[in-house]
Amino acid sequence: MSQQVIGFHYTLKDKEGNLIDTSVESSPLLYLEGSGQIIPGLEKEITPLNVGDKKDIEVKAADAYGEVIEDLRITVQKSQFPADKDLQIGDQFQVNEEENAPIFTVIEIEGENIHIDGNHPMAGHDLFFEVEVTEKRAATPEEVSHGHAHGEGGHQH
Ligand code: ZN
Repeated sequence: MSQQVIGFHYTLKDKEGNLIDTSVESSPLLYLEGSGQIIPGLEKEITPLNVGDKKDIEVKAADAYGEVIEDLRITVQKSQFPADKDLQIGDQFQVNEEENAPIFTVIEIEGENIHIDGNHPMAGHDLFFEVEVTEKRAATPEEVSHGHAHGEGGHQH
């Protein structure tokens, strides 16, 4: 069978039931099957569903944004930053120019010690999705060659 493009609405909550994100106020999200556009734990559950199906899906951290990597929580010295930099908790920066270099967030400032964390903000979190499938269709040859879904909610060129 050819690859499919699947559209769905989602509401994402954390373990405590707090709303993290939802597509309901905007367009459904579109993905090309097997292209890694959405987290693997979610794709595995959505792909077999039919249009109109709703499902509650729990995705463990390991199948979402990964477990927290302690080695990415490090302490650096304030002197390693530009002297005119007014560091604030929540500031984000890349340590080098590589495209996939982790983005670090300043999590604590203790005098000269700056604690930074390069984990994804959602790392270590189990995610709770409510999804509703809105669309399923065969991918176009163009989508297959680009490796992503096109159209509203998908990749816009
Ligand atoms: Zn494209």
